[in-house]
Amino acid sequence: MISEDAFRYHDGELFVEDVSLRKLAEEFGTPLYVYSKRTMVSALAAYHDAFHRFNPLICYAVKANSNLEIIRTLAERGAGADIVSGGELFRAIKANVPSQKIVFAGVGKTKEEIRFALNENILMFNVESAPELELISRVAKEAGKVAPIAFRVNPDVDPLTHPYISTGLKKYKFGIPLEDAPELYRRAAQDRHVKALGFQMHIGSQLTDITPYRDSLVKAVDLIKKLRREDIDLRYLDIGGGLGIRYNDEEVPTQGEMAELLEPLLLESRCQLILEPGRSIVGNAGVLLTETLYHKQTAEKSFLIVDAAMNDLARPSLYGAYHYMLPVRQTSAEVRVFDVVGPICESGDFLAKDRELPLMDSGDLLAVLGAGAYGFTMSSNYNSRRRAAEVLVDSTRYSLIRKRETYDELIQGEL
Ligand SMILES: *Cc1c(COP(=O)(O)O)cnc(C)c1O
Repeated sequence: MISEDAFRYHDGELFVEDVSLRKLAEEFGTPLYVYSKRTMVSALAAYHDAFHRFNPLICYAVKANSNLEIIRTLAERGAGADIVSGGELFRAIKANVPSQKIVFAGVGKTKEEIRFALNENILMFNVESAPELELISRVAKEAGKVAPIAFRVNPDVDPLTHPYISTGLKKYKFGIPLEDAPELYRRAAQDRHVKALGFQMHIGSQLTDITPYRDSLVKAVDLIKKLRREDIDLRYLDIGGGLGIRYNDEEVPTQGEMAELLEPLLLESRCQLILEPGRSIVGNAGVLLTETLYHKQTAEKSFLIVDAAMNDLARPSLYGAYHYMLPVRQTSAEVRVFDVVGPICESGDFLAKDRELPLMDSGDLLAVLGAGAYGFTMSSNYNSRRRAAEVLVDSTRYSLIRKRETYDELIQGEL
């Protein structure tokens, strides 16, 4: 299970930092996302420490968890933002992220989003195709601006992770093929409405082996040096996010190990370093707290039906992802094998399959670990379920950082 010391039993009850999860469930109801501030702040600090000699800009990938208070917490400690939509730009601004610490990724930026980001003077657009370069140039011309850009280059390196969260191979939709990059940098150099400032890559997510970073960086540094010989002098090297976290018993590399492996190449690049971590900042900082509704026994299976579902946490249904689970009250009840499922009308609605857990009764609480990243942000209103509330714990204090949706909010905007 995850090694965060922020989630521990005290007198037989599971706590987040110094706050009892049972108490939070009583006050705010379930399903409830609960985050440890200490855990996310130390993960950010681990990046700053490990890469300190490069004075890195850590652009937190907002899509992992875009709650304003979380972006604000990280921004107060020096983080910027890696955004993938106009909505995320809006959030980053609301959370006081300095615009010169915002980078904009994504294969499908719209004209409206480009205009919005240009007006906000973000640090750079990470451009993913030739037509996108053309559109950015046109929008910049109209606005009387010069758009700062980096190309997102696809290094064609296998990140050895789940195909749905893998991006750095040629067959995926992301980035510009390495061999096409020099030509695009030359084209940008001829264009008065764009200024190429950087090189960007992001090869995938939940990487538990860091050698693919090194293999990609070798290619990146080659290209940066080649461009320099042509007087195209890139200032920023943005190596993306993707460092994995422990969901079960994976061995995950630390930020320190990553820095040590990449250091010679980063030095050789002579660029300012940018990183875009998401999952590794907030993933292990969050749990999804859910209450057991029923224990249903069929001839084939034992089901624990809980009040959280695939609309609250999509990762198990979407990727077959594994999330460690702990009963909130420590118990010596007999351990059995359950499918932990939600109330949604889909057989794909499960949080765990064939999981060993102590027998739980109606009303017993269960904590789903590793739910801080791609948990709430991927949640939906499917089956007209109201989205969960979110609470941030800071040692003995806690605050509601998003209210549970109401039925009225569910139909707001419908005419
Ligand atoms: C999703 C994403 C990230 C963050 O990935 P994590 O695996 O959460 O660290 C960084 N950069 C880009 C471009 C992304 O799309």
